[in-house]
Amino acid sequence: MLMLPDNFQPALLPAADADAPSWWFVFAGGDLLVRPTASGVELPAASIWPFAKLPTTRRLYLGSLCGQPCHAAEVETTAPPPGMQFESLRALWTRLDEALLGVASHALQLMEWDRTHQFCGRCGTPTQRRADERARHCAACGLIAYPRLSPVVMVRITRGREILLARAPRFAPGTYSVLAGFVEAGETLEQALRREVAEEVGIRIRNPRYFASQSWPFPHSLMMAFTAEYAEGELQVDGRELLDARWFAPDALPGLPSPMSMAWRLIQDFTVREME
Ligand SMILES: [Zn+2]
Repeated sequence: MLMLPDNFQPALLPAADADAPSWWFVFAGGDLLVRPTASGVELPAASIWPFAKLPTTRRLYLGSLCGQPCHAAEVETTAPPPGMQFESLRALWTRLDEALLGVASHALQLMEWDRTHQFCGRCGTPTQRRADERARHCAACGLIAYPRLSPVVMVRITRGREILLARAPRFAPGTYSVLAGFVEAGETLEQALRREVAEEVGIRIRNPRYFASQSWPFPHSLMMAFTAEYAEGELQVDGRELLDARWFAPDALPGLPSPMSMAWRLIQDFTVREME
């Protein structure tokens, strides 16, 4: 599961004596630079920037993992150094160490935020990094921009021993998942849940209960998962946002989303319980 490891200590600047080997989270586009090994992939480690021929367009100090400094860097080229390759975080799941993948997810979101907040959203002046917190500051008007998070609610709706799963146009063929949508300004999470469910499939739910949350760095979502029970209404799908929605029995499920996703955990939790 994508998350910052508990032994990661965020920081804006390296400790003064930190000349120990550092982890380098090097991104081109959204892809991370790794070296394939016999058993998976490894991340570059060196005390200073290890790729003299690879100019960086952005660098951020992230903090330390088990005391080892972590740097993020962005390069323009997608031509990796010999023996290495750029891969998406999705493709690296289960192949890169889980703690490093969690820091990479953090790094990817911070780099995207830094790249897209170079100018003040209020007056257009170039912004600067703040020295005392993770933020960018406009010296002309004083606006401060913090790393962006977009809250998403996700809900597993059950009716007796059946689960509601739906299919969106962007899903891989045959894949179904739970309902999800962005929280709108002014809404509580519970209101967002009810609205999304009503908009997407036309039914009402009851007893929403918090399940768990997960960071989802594509590009900056925070997934908040709930369970709920069907209350009333007939399933109706508009054919645009969703192509299909159906009730499934636990022993007859369709294709499911990636096991790295919160949706998979929600569905798995239901299946395990219902099949016992
Ligand atoms: Zn400004």
